[in-house]
Amino acid sequence: MAELKLTNVDKSYGTVKVLHGINLHIEKGEFIVFVGPSGCGKSTLLRCIAGLEQITDGTLEIDGMVVNDVPPSQRGIAMVFQTYALYPHMTVYDNMAFGLRLAKMSRQEIDRRVNNAAEILQLTPYLDRLPKALSGGQRQRVAIGRSICRDPKVFLFDEPLSNLDAALRVATRIEIARLNEQMADTTMIYVTHDQVEAMTLADRIVVLRSGYVEQVGAPMELYHRPANLFVARFIGSPSMNVLAATVTNVSGDLIDVDIPGTGAAHLPFGGDAGLKGKTVQVGVRPEDLRLSAEGEEALVTGIVDIVEALGEVTLLYLRVAGHDEPIIAKLVGDVKIERGATVHLSADPVNLHLFDSDGLAISSAARAAA
Ligand code: ADP
Ligand code: MG
Repeated sequence: MAELKLTNVDKSYGTVKVLHGINLHIEKGEFIVFVGPSGCGKSTLLRCIAGLEQITDGTLEIDGMVVNDVPPSQRGIAMVFQTYALYPHMTVYDNMAFGLRLAKMSRQEIDRRVNNAAEILQLTPYLDRLPKALSGGQRQRVAIGRSICRDPKVFLFDEPLSNLDAALRVATRIEIARLNEQMADTTMIYVTHDQVEAMTLADRIVVLRSGYVEQVGAPMELYHRPANLFVARFIGSPSMNVLAATVTNVSGDLIDVDIPGTGAAHLPFGGDAGLKGKTVQVGVRPEDLRLSAEGEEALVTGIVDIVEALGEVTLLYLRVAGHDEPIIAKLVGDVKIERGATVHLSADPVNLHLFDSDGLAISSAARAAA
Protein backbone atom coordinates (compact mmCIF):
# COMPACT_ATOMS: atom_id res chain seq x y z
CA MET A 1 0.00 0.00 0.00
CA ALA A 2 1.60 3.21 -1.12
CA GLU A 3 0.95 6.74 -2.12
CA LEU A 4 2.63 8.12 -5.24
CA LYS A 5 3.33 11.68 -6.14
CA LEU A 6 4.67 12.87 -9.47
CA THR A 7 5.72 16.50 -9.69
CA ASN A 8 6.57 18.12 -13.05
CA VAL A 9 7.88 14.84 -14.44
CA ASP A 10 9.51 15.12 -17.87
CA LYS A 11 11.02 12.33 -19.91
CA SER A 12 13.15 12.81 -22.99
CA TYR A 13 14.91 10.34 -25.24
CA GLY A 14 17.84 12.38 -26.55
CA THR A 15 16.28 15.58 -27.84
CA VAL A 16 12.79 14.11 -28.13
CA LYS A 17 10.55 14.90 -25.19
CA VAL A 18 7.87 12.25 -24.69
CA LEU A 19 6.45 13.25 -21.28
CA HIS A 20 5.69 16.87 -20.45
CA GLY A 21 5.32 18.15 -16.90
CA ILE A 22 3.27 15.29 -15.48
CA ASN A 23 1.66 16.11 -12.12
CA LEU A 24 -0.24 13.31 -10.43
CA HIS A 25 -1.13 12.41 -6.89
CA ILE A 26 -2.15 8.78 -6.52
CA GLU A 27 -3.71 7.82 -3.18
CA LYS A 28 -3.03 4.64 -1.25
CA GLY A 29 -5.11 1.75 -2.56
CA GLU A 30 -6.35 3.59 -5.63
CA PHE A 31 -6.88 1.86 -8.97
CA ILE A 32 -5.58 4.32 -11.55
CA VAL A 33 -5.81 3.76 -15.29
CA PHE A 34 -3.58 5.53 -17.82
CA VAL A 35 -5.42 5.65 -21.11
CA GLY A 36 -4.69 7.28 -24.43
CA PRO A 37 -3.91 6.49 -28.05
CA SER A 38 -0.89 4.42 -29.03
CA GLY A 39 2.37 6.34 -28.63
CA CYS A 40 1.02 8.92 -26.16
CA GLY A 41 3.51 7.90 -23.46
CA LYS A 42 1.55 5.50 -21.24
CA SER A 43 4.23 2.79 -21.09
CA THR A 44 6.98 5.36 -20.69
CA LEU A 45 5.20 6.90 -17.70
CA LEU A 46 4.68 3.47 -16.15
CA ARG A 47 8.31 2.51 -16.73
CA CYS A 48 9.43 5.77 -15.13
CA ILE A 49 7.36 4.90 -12.05
CA ALA A 50 8.82 1.38 -11.97
CA GLY A 51 12.33 2.79 -12.30
CA LEU A 52 12.98 1.00 -15.59
CA GLU A 53 13.47 4.45 -17.13
CA GLN A 54 15.23 7.37 -15.50
CA ILE A 55 13.07 10.49 -15.42
CA THR A 56 14.69 13.51 -17.06
CA ASP A 57 13.25 16.18 -14.80
CA GLY A 58 10.87 16.49 -11.86
CA THR A 59 10.38 14.21 -8.88
CA LEU A 60 8.71 10.92 -8.15
CA GLU A 61 7.83 10.21 -4.52
CA ILE A 62 6.62 6.95 -3.04
CA ASP A 63 5.21 7.34 0.46
CA GLY A 64 6.81 10.75 0.78
CA MET A 65 10.30 9.64 -0.22
CA VAL A 66 11.91 10.84 -3.46
CA VAL A 67 12.82 7.70 -5.41
CA ASN A 68 14.22 9.22 -8.63
CA ASP A 69 17.49 7.39 -8.06
CA VAL A 70 16.20 4.31 -6.24
CA PRO A 71 16.65 1.13 -8.33
CA PRO A 72 13.50 -0.72 -9.45
CA SER A 73 14.04 -3.65 -7.09
CA GLN A 74 13.94 -1.36 -4.06
CA ARG A 75 10.77 0.55 -4.95
CA GLY A 76 8.32 -2.09 -3.71
CA ILE A 77 6.74 -2.21 -7.16
CA ALA A 78 5.71 -5.20 -9.26
CA MET A 79 5.01 -4.92 -12.97
CA VAL A 80 2.89 -7.21 -15.16
CA PHE A 81 3.55 -6.97 -18.88
CA GLN A 82 1.57 -7.71 -21.98
CA THR A 83 3.80 -10.69 -22.77
CA TYR A 84 3.85 -12.88 -19.72
CA ALA A 85 6.99 -14.98 -20.32
CA LEU A 86 6.54 -17.91 -17.95
CA TYR A 87 9.28 -20.52 -17.57
CA PRO A 88 7.94 -23.35 -19.78
CA HIS A 89 9.71 -26.18 -17.90
CA MET A 90 8.41 -25.09 -14.46
CA THR A 91 5.04 -25.79 -12.91
CA VAL A 92 2.66 -22.99 -12.01
CA TYR A 93 3.81 -23.30 -8.40
CA ASP A 94 7.49 -23.06 -9.33
CA ASN A 95 6.89 -20.16 -11.69
CA MET A 96 5.37 -18.24 -8.82
CA ALA A 97 7.94 -19.39 -6.26
CA PHE A 98 11.01 -18.78 -8.43
CA GLY A 99 11.64 -15.15 -7.53
CA LEU A 100 11.02 -15.82 -3.84
CA ARG A 101 13.56 -18.67 -3.80
CA LEU A 102 16.08 -16.37 -5.44
CA ALA A 103 15.41 -13.92 -2.63
CA LYS A 104 16.22 -16.75 -0.16
CA MET A 105 12.81 -16.68 1.47
CA SER A 106 11.93 -19.54 3.83
CA ARG A 107 10.03 -22.52 2.42
CA GLN A 108 7.04 -21.97 4.68
CA GLU A 109 6.77 -18.31 3.70
CA ILE A 110 7.07 -19.18 -0.01
CA ASP A 111 4.37 -21.81 0.41
CA ARG A 112 2.09 -19.37 2.20
CA ARG A 113 2.51 -16.67 -0.44
CA VAL A 114 2.11 -18.96 -3.46
CA ASN A 115 -0.99 -20.59 -2.01
CA ASN A 116 -2.46 -17.22 -1.16
CA ALA A 117 -1.85 -15.90 -4.69
CA ALA A 118 -3.26 -19.10 -6.20
CA GLU A 119 -6.34 -18.74 -4.02
CA ILE A 120 -6.91 -15.12 -5.06
CA LEU A 121 -6.50 -15.97 -8.74
CA GLN A 122 -8.38 -19.29 -8.62
CA LEU A 123 -5.27 -21.16 -9.71
CA THR A 124 -5.16 -23.65 -6.83
CA PRO A 125 -6.22 -26.63 -9.01
CA TYR A 126 -3.47 -25.87 -11.52
CA LEU A 127 -0.42 -25.49 -9.27
CA ASP A 128 1.20 -28.71 -10.57
CA ARG A 129 0.63 -27.98 -14.24
CA LEU A 130 3.13 -26.72 -16.79
CA PRO A 131 2.28 -23.49 -18.63
CA LYS A 132 1.64 -25.35 -21.89
CA ALA A 133 -1.32 -27.09 -20.24
CA LEU A 134 -2.99 -23.76 -19.40
CA SER A 135 -5.21 -21.43 -21.38
CA GLY A 136 -3.95 -17.94 -22.30
CA GLY A 137 -6.03 -16.39 -19.55
CA GLN A 138 -4.71 -18.81 -16.94
CA ARG A 139 -1.13 -18.08 -18.02
CA GLN A 140 -1.75 -14.38 -17.66
CA ARG A 141 -3.10 -15.06 -14.16
CA VAL A 142 0.08 -16.97 -13.27
CA ALA A 143 2.09 -13.93 -14.38
CA ILE A 144 -0.07 -11.77 -12.11
CA GLY A 145 0.32 -14.35 -9.33
CA ARG A 146 4.08 -14.12 -9.58
CA SER A 147 3.75 -10.41 -8.82
CA ILE A 148 1.25 -10.89 -6.00
CA CYS A 149 3.72 -13.25 -4.28
CA ARG A 150 6.22 -10.44 -4.06
CA ASP A 151 3.67 -8.57 -1.96
CA PRO A 152 4.30 -5.24 -3.71
CA LYS A 153 3.15 -1.86 -2.43
CA VAL A 154 2.32 -0.83 -5.97
CA PHE A 155 1.16 -2.99 -8.85
CA LEU A 156 1.77 -1.86 -12.40
CA PHE A 157 0.05 -3.42 -15.40
CA ASP A 158 1.00 -2.58 -18.97
CA GLU A 159 -1.82 -3.64 -21.31
CA PRO A 160 -2.00 -7.09 -19.71
CA LEU A 161 -5.04 -8.15 -21.73
CA SER A 162 -4.08 -7.07 -25.22
CA ASN A 163 -2.75 -10.50 -26.25
CA LEU A 164 -5.96 -12.27 -25.30
CA ASP A 165 -8.92 -12.87 -27.59
CA ALA A 166 -12.11 -10.88 -27.05
CA ALA A 167 -13.96 -13.33 -24.80
CA LEU A 168 -10.92 -14.01 -22.66
CA ARG A 169 -10.22 -10.31 -22.40
CA VAL A 170 -13.62 -9.74 -20.83
CA ALA A 171 -13.20 -12.69 -18.45
CA THR A 172 -9.71 -11.61 -17.39
CA ARG A 173 -10.85 -8.00 -16.99
CA ILE A 174 -13.42 -9.25 -14.50
CA GLU A 175 -10.65 -11.23 -12.74
CA ILE A 176 -8.62 -8.07 -12.41
CA ALA A 177 -11.60 -6.18 -11.00
CA ARG A 178 -11.99 -8.99 -8.46
CA LEU A 179 -8.28 -8.92 -7.70
CA ASN A 180 -8.58 -5.21 -7.01
CA GLU A 181 -11.44 -5.89 -4.57
CA GLN A 182 -9.40 -8.52 -2.74
CA MET A 183 -6.26 -6.43 -2.65
CA ALA A 184 -8.08 -3.24 -1.78
CA ASP A 185 -5.04 -1.85 0.04
CA THR A 186 -2.67 -2.23 -2.90
CA THR A 187 -2.20 0.73 -5.19
CA MET A 188 -2.64 -0.29 -8.81
CA ILE A 189 -1.76 1.50 -12.00
CA TYR A 190 -3.06 -0.01 -15.19
CA VAL A 191 -2.21 1.04 -18.73
CA THR A 192 -4.57 0.47 -21.63
CA HIS A 193 -5.63 2.05 -24.89
CA ASP A 194 -9.08 0.51 -24.43
CA GLN A 195 -11.55 2.96 -22.98
CA VAL A 196 -13.91 0.17 -21.89
CA GLU A 197 -11.18 -1.32 -19.67
CA ALA A 198 -10.46 2.16 -18.37
CA MET A 199 -14.10 2.91 -17.57
CA THR A 200 -14.83 -0.44 -15.92
CA LEU A 201 -11.68 -0.83 -13.81
CA ALA A 202 -10.61 2.62 -12.69
CA ASP A 203 -11.24 4.59 -9.56
CA ARG A 204 -9.72 7.44 -11.54
CA ILE A 205 -8.60 7.68 -15.14
CA VAL A 206 -5.64 9.68 -16.40
CA VAL A 207 -6.15 10.59 -20.07
CA LEU A 208 -2.86 11.16 -21.88
CA ARG A 209 -2.24 12.67 -25.29
CA SER A 210 1.18 13.24 -26.85
CA GLY A 211 2.87 13.09 -23.45
CA TYR A 212 0.52 15.55 -21.75
CA VAL A 213 -2.15 14.81 -19.15
CA GLU A 214 -5.46 15.97 -20.67
CA GLN A 215 -7.70 15.22 -17.69
CA VAL A 216 -7.75 13.19 -14.47
CA GLY A 217 -11.05 12.07 -13.00
CA ALA A 218 -13.48 9.34 -12.07
CA PRO A 219 -14.90 7.51 -15.11
CA MET A 220 -18.32 9.16 -14.86
CA GLU A 221 -16.74 12.55 -14.36
CA LEU A 222 -14.91 12.17 -17.67
CA TYR A 223 -18.05 10.91 -19.34
CA HIS A 224 -20.34 13.65 -18.08
CA ARG A 225 -17.91 16.53 -17.77
CA PRO A 226 -15.01 16.12 -20.22
CA ALA A 227 -12.60 19.03 -19.89
CA ASN A 228 -11.96 19.26 -23.61
CA LEU A 229 -12.90 17.85 -26.98
CA PHE A 230 -10.13 15.26 -26.95
CA VAL A 231 -11.39 13.64 -23.75
CA ALA A 232 -14.99 14.07 -24.89
CA ARG A 233 -14.31 12.08 -28.06
CA PHE A 234 -11.95 9.55 -26.49
CA ILE A 235 -14.38 8.42 -23.78
CA GLY A 236 -17.59 6.82 -25.03
CA SER A 237 -18.36 4.65 -28.02
CA PRO A 238 -19.33 5.60 -30.65
CA SER A 239 -17.60 8.93 -30.07
CA MET A 240 -19.39 12.13 -29.18
CA ASN A 241 -20.77 14.02 -32.20
CA VAL A 242 -19.38 17.50 -32.61
CA LEU A 243 -21.23 20.23 -34.51
CA ALA A 244 -19.69 23.59 -35.32
CA ALA A 245 -22.03 26.42 -34.39
CA THR A 246 -22.18 30.18 -33.96
CA VAL A 247 -23.41 31.88 -30.81
CA THR A 248 -26.24 34.18 -31.86
CA ASN A 249 -27.39 35.41 -28.49
CA VAL A 250 -26.57 35.24 -24.81
CA SER A 251 -29.24 35.96 -22.24
CA GLY A 252 -29.20 35.07 -18.59
CA ASP A 253 -28.08 31.46 -18.31
CA LEU A 254 -28.96 30.65 -21.90
CA ILE A 255 -26.77 30.67 -24.95
CA ASP A 256 -28.44 30.52 -28.35
CA VAL A 257 -26.47 28.88 -31.10
CA ASP A 258 -27.06 28.47 -34.79
CA ILE A 259 -25.97 25.08 -36.12
CA PRO A 260 -25.52 25.13 -39.92
CA GLY A 261 -27.76 22.72 -41.79
CA THR A 262 -29.91 21.94 -38.80
CA GLY A 263 -31.24 24.82 -36.75
CA ALA A 264 -31.01 26.69 -33.55
CA ALA A 265 -30.51 25.45 -30.03
CA HIS A 266 -30.85 27.09 -26.66
CA LEU A 267 -28.22 25.83 -24.30
CA PRO A 268 -28.03 26.22 -20.53
CA PHE A 269 -24.39 27.32 -20.43
CA GLY A 270 -23.88 30.13 -17.90
CA GLY A 271 -24.36 33.30 -19.98
CA ASP A 272 -20.90 34.54 -20.88
CA ALA A 273 -21.82 37.62 -22.99
CA GLY A 274 -18.33 37.55 -24.51
CA LEU A 275 -19.30 34.46 -26.50
CA LYS A 276 -21.76 36.31 -28.73
CA GLY A 277 -20.77 36.00 -32.37
CA LYS A 278 -18.06 33.41 -31.55
CA THR A 279 -17.65 30.02 -33.15
CA VAL A 280 -18.21 27.15 -30.72
CA GLN A 281 -18.60 23.40 -30.96
CA VAL A 282 -21.67 21.66 -29.68
CA GLY A 283 -21.11 18.10 -28.51
CA VAL A 284 -23.78 15.47 -28.17
CA ARG A 285 -23.26 11.79 -27.44
CA PRO A 286 -24.93 9.30 -29.83
CA GLU A 287 -26.90 7.83 -26.90
CA ASP A 288 -28.24 11.27 -25.93
CA LEU A 289 -29.93 11.78 -29.31
CA ARG A 290 -33.52 10.66 -29.79
CA LEU A 291 -36.11 10.99 -32.51
CA SER A 292 -37.81 14.38 -32.21
CA ALA A 293 -41.40 14.34 -31.03
CA GLU A 294 -44.12 15.75 -33.28
CA GLY A 295 -43.59 19.54 -33.49
CA GLU A 296 -40.43 19.46 -31.34
CA GLU A 297 -37.48 21.58 -32.43
CA ALA A 298 -34.73 19.36 -33.85
CA LEU A 299 -31.08 19.68 -32.93
CA VAL A 300 -30.01 17.67 -35.96
CA THR A 301 -31.80 16.94 -39.22
CA GLY A 302 -30.14 14.55 -41.61
CA ILE A 303 -30.47 11.78 -44.13
CA VAL A 304 -29.83 8.22 -42.96
CA ASP A 305 -26.77 6.81 -44.70
CA ILE A 306 -26.19 3.61 -42.75
CA VAL A 307 -28.34 1.68 -40.30
CA GLU A 308 -26.66 -0.75 -37.90
CA ALA A 309 -29.29 -2.78 -36.08
CA LEU A 310 -27.68 -4.54 -33.11
CA GLY A 311 -30.90 -5.60 -31.42
CA GLU A 312 -30.54 -3.79 -28.14
CA VAL A 313 -29.66 -0.57 -29.98
CA THR A 314 -29.90 0.81 -33.48
CA LEU A 315 -27.08 3.02 -34.75
CA LEU A 316 -27.97 5.60 -37.39
CA TYR A 317 -25.25 7.34 -39.39
CA LEU A 318 -26.67 10.57 -40.78
CA ARG A 319 -25.46 12.90 -43.47
CA VAL A 320 -26.07 16.41 -42.27
CA ALA A 321 -25.69 19.41 -44.60
CA GLY A 322 -22.65 21.50 -43.66
CA HIS A 323 -20.91 18.71 -41.70
CA ASP A 324 -18.16 16.52 -43.08
CA GLU A 325 -18.41 13.74 -40.53
CA PRO A 326 -21.51 11.62 -40.14
CA ILE A 327 -23.65 12.31 -37.10
CA ILE A 328 -24.29 9.10 -35.17
CA ALA A 329 -27.39 8.39 -33.15
CA LYS A 330 -27.68 5.39 -30.84
CA LEU A 331 -31.38 4.67 -30.38
CA VAL A 332 -32.62 2.14 -27.85
CA GLY A 333 -34.12 -1.04 -29.29
CA ASP A 334 -34.82 -2.24 -32.79
CA VAL A 335 -35.89 0.96 -34.53
CA LYS A 336 -37.33 0.52 -38.01
CA ILE A 337 -35.76 3.24 -40.12
CA GLU A 338 -34.66 2.84 -43.73
CA ARG A 339 -31.57 4.14 -45.43
CA GLY A 340 -32.38 7.40 -47.26
CA ALA A 341 -35.01 8.51 -44.75
CA THR A 342 -34.88 12.05 -43.39
CA VAL A 343 -34.86 12.07 -39.60
CA HIS A 344 -35.06 14.78 -36.98
CA LEU A 345 -33.20 14.24 -33.73
CA SER A 346 -33.43 16.11 -30.45
CA ALA A 347 -31.50 15.98 -27.19
CA ASP A 348 -32.20 17.08 -23.67
CA PRO A 349 -30.26 20.39 -23.35
CA VAL A 350 -28.72 19.15 -20.09
CA ASN A 351 -26.95 16.44 -22.10
CA LEU A 352 -25.32 18.85 -24.51
CA HIS A 353 -21.67 19.84 -24.24
CA LEU A 354 -20.19 23.10 -25.41
CA PHE A 355 -16.56 23.75 -26.34
CA ASP A 356 -14.80 26.94 -27.38
CA SER A 357 -12.79 27.25 -30.59
CA ASP A 358 -9.74 25.79 -28.80
CA GLY A 359 -11.73 22.72 -27.80
CA LEU A 360 -11.90 23.60 -24.10
CA ALA A 361 -15.18 22.87 -22.34
CA ILE A 362 -17.44 25.80 -21.53
CA SER A 363 -19.02 24.83 -18.28
CA SER A 364 -22.71 24.36 -18.00
CA ALA A 365 -24.64 25.71 -15.06
CA ALA A 366 -27.22 22.95 -15.44
CA ARG A 367 -24.61 20.22 -15.75
CA ALA A 368 -22.66 21.44 -12.73
CA ALA A 369 -25.85 21.38 -10.68
CA ALA A 370 -26.84 17.91 -11.92
P1 ADP B 1 2.31 4.13 -25.42
O1 ADP B 1 2.66 3.13 -24.38
O2 ADP B 1 1.31 5.14 -24.97
O3 ADP B 1 1.87 3.49 -26.71
P2 ADP B 1 5.13 4.78 -25.30
O4 ADP B 1 5.28 5.25 -23.91
O5 ADP B 1 5.59 3.41 -25.61
O6 ADP B 1 3.62 4.97 -25.77
O7 ADP B 1 5.92 5.78 -26.26
C1 ADP B 1 5.77 7.18 -26.18
C2 ADP B 1 6.68 7.83 -27.18
O8 ADP B 1 8.03 7.66 -26.79
C3 ADP B 1 6.55 7.27 -28.59
O9 ADP B 1 6.61 8.33 -29.49
C4 ADP B 1 7.75 6.37 -28.69
O10 ADP B 1 8.18 6.29 -30.02
C5 ADP B 1 8.78 7.06 -27.82
N1 ADP B 1 9.73 6.12 -27.21
C6 ADP B 1 9.43 5.10 -26.36
N2 ADP B 1 10.54 4.45 -25.97
C7 ADP B 1 11.58 5.05 -26.60
C8 ADP B 1 13.00 4.85 -26.61
N3 ADP B 1 13.58 3.88 -25.88
N4 ADP B 1 13.75 5.68 -27.38
C9 ADP B 1 13.17 6.66 -28.10
N5 ADP B 1 11.85 6.91 -28.13
C10 ADP B 1 11.05 6.13 -27.39
MG1 MG C 1 2.61 1.04 -24.43
